[in-house]
Amino acid sequence: MNFDIARKRMVETQIVSRGVKDRRLIEAMLKVPRHVFVEEAMAAQAYSDTPLPIGEKQTISQPYMVALMTELLELSGREKVLEIGTGSGYQAAILATLADRVYTVERIRPLALKARRALDLLGLLNVNIKISDGTIGWEEEAPFDAIIVTAGAPDVPDKLVEQLAIGGRLVIPVGNQFEQILVRITKQEDGSLDRENVTGCRFVKLVGKYGWGTEE
Ligand code: SAH
Repeated sequence: MNFDIARKRMVETQIVSRGVKDRRLIEAMLKVPRHVFVEEAMAAQAYSDTPLPIGEKQTISQPYMVALMTELLELSGREKVLEIGTGSGYQAAILATLADRVYTVERIRPLALKARRALDLLGLLNVNIKISDGTIGWEEEAPFDAIIVTAGAPDVPDKLVEQLAIGGRLVIPVGNQFEQILVRITKQEDGSLDRENVTGCRFVKLVGKYGWGTEE
């Protein structure tokens, strides 16, 4: 399997053809080897148009969803970004390529450790990972120019809105456990919030103090 060819094809047929325009993002998706973020047995499927299991009942998001959410953050290269739900670390790798610094929070330790190894392998040293409940954000490092939540939330956690810088963008799937709407919140100059509904989506649960309970 030639991963470079598979990745190029992924970007053409799943990302560009569906309307993603951000040149830097397209370059990042051509560059970051997605197969490094899945189990070896799944490497051949790493560039397929679908989410994939990464263990612990979690998934790495579909490539197009990663691209869409990242484009909504409108990164120019100078930003400090917060991600909730590190999972495989693939989304964090894309963010790290496009922003200045990435802070990512994962509640499941084995996933965080695996993600760390993959990011280190690629030399992405501008990613900080914390094992914690991301629904409370990362207070010590706030404010963030962009925040991305890669798990489905019942509501937008207030703490994340509080930790968003003026002018900052927060992208989060909001809904029930079976379907969500991808929401983008922009914090205006006067502190008011602009809320846009982007598209339907389906993510694993955001579990935590301001998310779902573990039993639900
Ligand atoms: N961005 C990931 C997708 C991960 S799936 C990737 O690129 O692979 C969602 C992840 O969110 C899961 O790993 C899950 O354990 C994690 N998660 C769910 N609730 C969380 C919470 N409250 N804080 C941190 N991580 C959480």
